[in-house]
Amino acid sequence: MNRRTFIQTAAQGTLGLSTASLFLNTPPLLGDQPPLKNWIWTDGGENLKPAEQTERFQKFRQAGIKAVLFSGYNREVLARAKDQGLETHAWIWTLCRGDKELLEQHPDWYVVNRRGESAAGKPAYVDYYHFLCPSHEEVRQHLAKAVAKLGDTDNLDGIHLDYIRYPDVILPVALWKNYNLVQNEELPPFDYCYCEVCRAAFKKQTGEDPLKLPDPPSHAAWRQYRYDSVTQLVNQLAAVAHEKHKQITAAVFPSPTLAKKMVRQDWARWNLDAILPMTYNRFYNEEPEWIERAVKEGVAALPKDRPLYAGLYLPDFKGGEFDRALQSALAGGAKGVALFGGLKTVKSGA
Ligand SMILES: [Zn+2]
Repeated sequence: MNRRTFIQTAAQGTLGLSTASLFLNTPPLLGDQPPLKNWIWTDGGENLKPAEQTERFQKFRQAGIKAVLFSGYNREVLARAKDQGLETHAWIWTLCRGDKELLEQHPDWYVVNRRGESAAGKPAYVDYYHFLCPSHEEVRQHLAKAVAKLGDTDNLDGIHLDYIRYPDVILPVALWKNYNLVQNEELPPFDYCYCEVCRAAFKKQTGEDPLKLPDPPSHAAWRQYRYDSVTQLVNQLAAVAHEKHKQITAAVFPSPTLAKKMVRQDWARWNLDAILPMTYNRFYNEEPEWIERAVKEGVAALPKDRPLYAGLYLPDFKGGEFDRALQSALAGGAKGVALFGGLKTVKSGA
């Protein structure tokens, strides 16, 4: 295997934008396999001068990046990225929506926890955790409209769904200490959704009110109802995107098992063009080699032709860990990696 990976330092640019020089020389592993496709989650650099934007995109290309997931952009940014041969994707917050208008006009669209508290007025963990309930038809229509609108954007290749899930019923273990929590079980303040719509729909389906179950976390059909609710929404959005001839992808929790357990994502059943699990090993107090296990589980669960790109959280890597993470992702069957976080790592190797 003649693969060289090289990640070089990042200089902080204007407005905190990373102007990293990052190199991922990743030729095809075998002759008849397609080359790797690497992604980056980033802002659009809209405030940079045109020449600086172009230079930034050239650096992405030199670094082996083929697709950019933009948190923000304008027409010019998309056109310049395309000019440099990059794929462009609009990175959207799907169910975590703190829009003032939505909160004010539709507080009933938000998820409700097992204590009866709505994420509109009392979000869990952090003040921006205003999650919409995926079971509401109005929510589905609202998001479908947003995706359709993106579908009409020129020079945009795809739509990338982030926060396409419930609030974490279990947080990544490394974060427990930040909230002074021990989450070995599903605790009522973090267990969603017990809104009127969900309760009525589940009752219709099974005859039972989820709020009256003796032990809701152990109830398989109730868990499945919530997996299905997110899956139905995703597949509806996928249909809208595909009608507009756009790709659709999502950022998800690291493996099918963890994703279901922590945020009720059953992502192996989603009709997406690709899946980008956030295999951020340090969030789980794990070494980079853990990525291979998570990726393998994902690849095995997905349809054979569905590419998986492993999300790597750059700020956590020290020494040779980036290299190990990359090797680990590819060994697990990832078709490339997706980079996230300030590119502070300095690493050179062969
Ligand atoms: Zn609900």
